Amino acid sequence: MAPKKKGKGKKGPPSSGWMPGFGTKGTMTTYFQYPTPELQEELRKIAQAIVAPGKGILAADESTGTMGKRLQDIGVENTEENRRKYRQLLFSTDPAISENISGVILFHETLYQKADDGTPLVNLLEKRGIIPGIKVDKGVVPLFGSEDECTTQGLDDLAQRCAQYKKDGCHFAKWRCVLKIGRNTPSYQAIQENATVLARYASICQSQRIVPIVEPEVLPDGEHDLDRAQKVTETVLAAVYKALNDHHVYLEGTLLKPNMVTAGQSCKKTYTATDIGRATVTALLRTVPAAVPGVTFLSGGQSEEEASVNLNAINTVELKRPWALTFSYGRALQASVLRAWGGKQENVLAGQQELLNRAKANGQASQGKYVAGSVTGASGDSGLFVANHAY
Ligand code: 13P
Repeated sequence: MAPKKKGKGKKGPPSSGWMPGFGTKGTMTTYFQYPTPELQEELRKIAQAIVAPGKGILAADESTGTMGKRLQDIGVENTEENRRKYRQLLFSTDPAISENISGVILFHETLYQKADDGTPLVNLLEKRGIIPGIKVDKGVVPLFGSEDECTTQGLDDLAQRCAQYKKDGCHFAKWRCVLKIGRNTPSYQAIQENATVLARYASICQSQRIVPIVEPEVLPDGEHDLDRAQKVTETVLAAVYKALNDHHVYLEGTLLKPNMVTAGQSCKKTYTATDIGRATVTALLRTVPAAVPGVTFLSGGQSEEEASVNLNAINTVELKRPWALTFSYGRALQASVLRAWGGKQENVLAGQQELLNRAKANGQASQGKYVAGSVTGASGDSGLFVANHAY
């Protein structure tokens, strides 16, 4: 037997987080470390609490410009004070709201605003057992040379911002990427770029103990049919999960916020909620690992009722569902609230009642228990108008 050479003893792997590489002579091509068990547990618990049975997210993170459009619709001026009053209405809704709302996504401005009595708005959520979240992307920018496609910016100072947001009470984040269906789109460039930027965002969030909501939204604009929407969604999600894996993102501590698979707004064919449910769950089954605890759909311009009925179908079609399938709605939770409130103090309770009603409808839909038409709201008609816009 050859004598052991000094200093050449086989180096064992570190006790945790060590992954074998392809090389055998110390070239560790695939080295990485999983998050510590403590961090894994923290992230997993946050994600699981958000998608607890019957619960979903209120997306109230409209940027100042977008909020302006919503307020304009009801004849209210887009001032910081009016935005504060509106968010105060939302967050001071009867605590029963927490039966169906587990998390709220905030816009930066709102996180530092206070209620009339000086209570920070974020504390209103905490008192209700609702988890505060924060939009951290800085909006979309064009991809030069593409056919009107885009990517999302905001990575540069993201770690510092996440660290501060965590200190200020936020436990999850949102970053929205946008993909467009056209004859030549989404392009390879857009799919790859948006997948990578989402992965990098998710990785940075997790490093700061924040659960990333990964949002690759395939827009409903266009004439495409349901099959095309499904195939594009599958292609986009497959790229996103490849990128998340490449960046060692801890999937159990993430949530996905996708579009439902629906035909384009201008598609001539009509589809039932069951068609939409089947196409959506099939697309997810083909691409989203079962390690992901939950999928929180955006409403994407659907009416309040459509968004509830479609979510219900997603939860009742005869397919496997290894993840919680729930809502993270902006427009489909707020249209009736805004309409009922109309900027008037005497209507605050009426607005809050609309939020309670719609949250309950979606909570039921997330469990496949929503009866179509059983919850109506002040924006009922305008909601139908959006649906007919499919022409
Ligand atoms: P909608 O539900 O209005 O599509 O918005 C949800 C959201 O947060 C989009 O990023």
